[in-house]
Amino acid sequence: MKVLKFGGTSVGSAQSIRNVKEIISAQPGSKIVVLSAMSGVTNELVNLVEYFRLGSESSKNEVLERLFKKHSDLIDELFSNSEAKKETLGHIEQMFGELREVLSGNFSPELEPVVLTYGESFLTYIFSKYLEAEEQNNTLLDAKEFMHVQSLENPNIETVSALLKETLEREIRSEIYITQGFVRIDRFRNINTLKRGGSDYSATIIAAACGAKEVQIWTDIDGFHNNDPRHVENTKALSYLTFEEAAELAYFGAKILHPQTVQPVKERNIPIYLKNTFTPQAAGTKISSEVKSTGLKAISAKDGITAIKIKSNRMLMAHGFLRKIFDVFDKHQTAIDMITTSEIAISLTIDDIKNLDLILNELEAYGEITVEKEHSIICIVGESVIEDKKIYRIFELLNDIPVRMISYGGSKNNISLLVDTKNKVQILKSLNDKLFSGNIPADS
Ligand code: ADP
Ligand code: ASP
Ligand code: MG
Repeated sequence: MKVLKFGGTSVGSAQSIRNVKEIISAQPGSKIVVLSAMSGVTNELVNLVEYFRLGSESSKNEVLERLFKKHSDLIDELFSNSEAKKETLGHIEQMFGELREVLSGNFSPELEPVVLTYGESFLTYIFSKYLEAEEQNNTLLDAKEFMHVQSLENPNIETVSALLKETLEREIRSEIYITQGFVRIDRFRNINTLKRGGSDYSATIIAAACGAKEVQIWTDIDGFHNNDPRHVENTKALSYLTFEEAAELAYFGAKILHPQTVQPVKERNIPIYLKNTFTPQAAGTKISSEVKSTGLKAISAKDGITAIKIKSNRMLMAHGFLRKIFDVFDKHQTAIDMITTSEIAISLTIDDIKNLDLILNELEAYGEITVEKEHSIICIVGESVIEDKKIYRIFELLNDIPVRMISYGGSKNNISLLVDTKNKVQILKSLNDKLFSGNIPADS
């Protein structure tokens, strides 16, 4: 079994959906195809939820009409057989009817993910019907039957595996199974999501659950680049990354992969191939346990970071101080990303500020607290990157750019810089010039 995931832009138009069909049919053997919503649809659904919450009927209707038109136009363009077109449109109308029904009641927070996951349900149905109309047998699976993921950070793969097995035994056997990304059933048995961009994570959870031999993630770029192509010119696709490198880059902001994507397949040594739907012949990136080269590979940046400094003379020579500080974060279930200490102060960063006020209240007992929001962590990654000779060039940059914290040596494979978000793009560009320009190959 293989798992093939196609993201929003890969299924954003009739033409790209035809590409997807070609990519799938070119690969023999059984596969589970995980689809996102059409590009832009989940953003529209986010707006819809907001209008639902505010009780704004006319805005709700406008979004619903736009979304219906987008999907009915797609059906119109995709299907040549008029019977199949009519049947598909009829079913989508029915699904929109159900969605309107949900939106006609009172808003409650549990309904948010119910609405958000409709995009994946619309598209998987249309795609399954389209393949059928093109005489490609396939079976549409309802992900809600098996994606029972109670903990977002630590999904129980055995549970998903058992439920997926039951679902596959119950359904018509097929070489092509199609299912929805993004959706999960949570610990309260409610419909929930794997967070934005979560279809990548759906694909690797499913791959781990069915013991797939590989996962292919098809997107709109030719693989994992060595820097963020949204901000930096002349970035290059990497042919190979290790699971650790990819996990680190994804966690620290590389949008091409949802932050948790790598974990389920890393534990089972199932490789991920990142490929471009629009240039399928391009090699893309293989993510696996193989270490093909050491040294600097890539840079990524994660926004929305808050730095907290605790300054206290009591820290001087005192043992147990750090433990007390960590206990506060632990108690409020807040993960710390970066940390540096001096004799009298400790600085650390968090990205989840849900419990910030509670944390700060407790920390006040330990010293003087300073909080700085709107920071970014820039992460420089590669197997044994700290031993790479060209890394010294980072320190030349420190003359020109304000860096709030540096983490060097915590692991051999990562150097992190904390910077003000307003300087992030400039720093990414400078790092690119210093580290990747000239005759230094990106993929060395
Ligand atoms: P999909 O809809 O297929 O899931 P995404 O938009 O989530 O696609 O991810 C692909 C995008 O990620 C690319 O178009 C690119 O702009 C962005 N991106 C950010 N960092 C990187 C990187 N290091 N390598 C490749 N793409 C990146
Ligand atoms: N459609 C969802 C989103 O836009 C999930 C995904 O595309 O991965 O966040
Ligand atoms: Mg994505």
